[in-house]
Amino acid sequence: MNPPSRFLLFWARCRSCGHEWKTLSDPGDGRYRILLGGANNSVGYVDTIEDSAFSEVYRLVEQALGPDTPLADRLDAFDGVFGLICDMNPDGSHFDMSGKRRCIRCGSTSVDFGPTEPPEYAELIPVQVTHERWDNLTEKQKHKEILERLAVLRKK
Ligand SMILES: [Zn+2]
Repeated sequence: MNPPSRFLLFWARCRSCGHEWKTLSDPGDGRYRILLGGANNSVGYVDTIEDSAFSEVYRLVEQALGPDTPLADRLDAFDGVFGLICDMNPDGSHFDMSGKRRCIRCGSTSVDFGPTEPPEYAELIPVQVTHERWDNLTEKQKHKEILERLAVLRKK
């Protein structure tokens, strides 16, 4: 199986400054997840089965949140954290897997978006995200980082 190379485009409109642009949707096939980075200019993917960090981070997030946290909240937290543990883009931005869009003009996260109609598609080859920094952490450091990342996400 190859990572997806054809993406349905979403329209996006910033509620803060009114800027409109097109962005990519997650292919949603379950095997590959898409991460956007650097004001949507870079597109990464993670192989959810082959990439060991994917299940590892999920386990650590689950552990940190505890069994009483509803599944939807655990998934949300995981999506928010995963991009942050990945190596950064060359421009110093983090990848984001949360599907939350950020205005490419003013940086606001108050963005409306939805599928283009009639549907428009983009053809591109996403890069596989790496997490060498994460891989070199000890189990204890990983646990600590997840707690810190979750605390920051909660404040947003
Ligand atoms: Zn804006």
